[in-house]
Amino acid sequence: TEQQKQCAGCGAFLQATNAEQAGYIPEKALEREPAICQRCFKIKNYNEAQSVAIDHDEFLRMLSRIGDEDALVIHIVDLFDFEGSLISSLQRFVGNNPVLLVVNKIDLLPKGMNWNRIRNWVQHQAKEQGIRIVDVLLVSAKRDLGFDRLVEVVAEWRGDRDVYVVGATNVGKSTLINRLIRDYSDMDRELTTSRYPGTTLDLVNIPLEDGRSIIDTPGIVYTHRMTELVDRKDLGAILPDKTLKPTVFQLNEGQTLFFGALARFDFAEGERQSFTCYMSNAIKIHRTKLERADDLYRNHAGDMLAPPAKDRLEQLPEWTKHQLRVPRGGEMDVFISGLGWIACNGKSGALLNVHAPKGVKVMLRSTLI
Ligand code: GDP
Repeated sequence: TEQQKQCAGCGAFLQATNAEQAGYIPEKALEREPAICQRCFKIKNYNEAQSVAIDHDEFLRMLSRIGDEDALVIHIVDLFDFEGSLISSLQRFVGNNPVLLVVNKIDLLPKGMNWNRIRNWVQHQAKEQGIRIVDVLLVSAKRDLGFDRLVEVVAEWRGDRDVYVVGATNVGKSTLINRLIRDYSDMDRELTTSRYPGTTLDLVNIPLEDGRSIIDTPGIVYTHRMTELVDRKDLGAILPDKTLKPTVFQLNEGQTLFFGALARFDFAEGERQSFTCYMSNAIKIHRTKLERADDLYRNHAGDMLAPPAKDRLEQLPEWTKHQLRVPRGGEMDVFISGLGWIACNGKSGALLNVHAPKGVKVMLRSTLI
């Protein structure tokens, strides 16, 4: 019977044999009602998650069954980390099933945005990645924005099919599912939410009134996102939770910006121009001269340049340098996955060197805002 009992938090099957695996619960806690696995227990009581990773291959294997079914797929991405959280291989395994792209965390963008423009931008980026989508919905799971529309559109596309919800970690999938549960069923079982990676494990079935289900899948871990590389203690600092307050810098050629000790932005060549940084307020941005940058990092990484704190610096991979050329006349963002982006007005073009931990996705993209 131990095999059949599920965690009231994440839905994983409970087991008392392997502490490293999903659903682990100490023998004596198994009798408790509701029974909750050790991971969820820790998250709830200490706000501390054990990171449980599901890698790309495992993820694809798990999801390959969707292509064989008649289902609606909701792909949830994080607007703040769009290119980092988009599952570009999605198209391969969803078959002919419709994909709804739900873009979460729109509360981070300033009020009074042109939402049509954002929607077009999203549509365009998804198309470039080879993902065919039937609709784009802009929502905030946390602030409860855009959900009435989402519920309507899901009803339209779902018909009498199951709904699969897929996404990377930390995009707000648990928050969104909890919101859907409230709308869709009388059941008051809440899934665990936390800001730590890998919170949702296994396929969790949420029964709907018509006998169909919403199926929550594990969050895929992409190591090209800064959020997956930093220590959990620094995650709160890099995930923004309020409307982004951009910081504008007028830079001359030969100036450098440090984003804590997480990344460095060198303006190597170009006329004096402005750069607008969109990141969490908890990241200290420090300006210096390019010729002083190495010294500054050597002497102040982990104190003046933070996060991360000194004792956690070692955990980050060494930096690699990305050379980016902003063409003259093209407004572009320098995107650093999980950390944010820097908008370049591009009037006169620029040559930039961006240093970021090895593996982190760094790229130029057409400007979001
Ligand atoms: P999951 O790993 O995809 O299940 O993501 P969670 O639901 O646990 O959320 C990850 C983090 O994103 C948490 O810190 C949430 O508070 C935060 N989050 C979720 N939805 C929103 C949103 O609409 N806006 C903002 N600003 N943060 C959100």
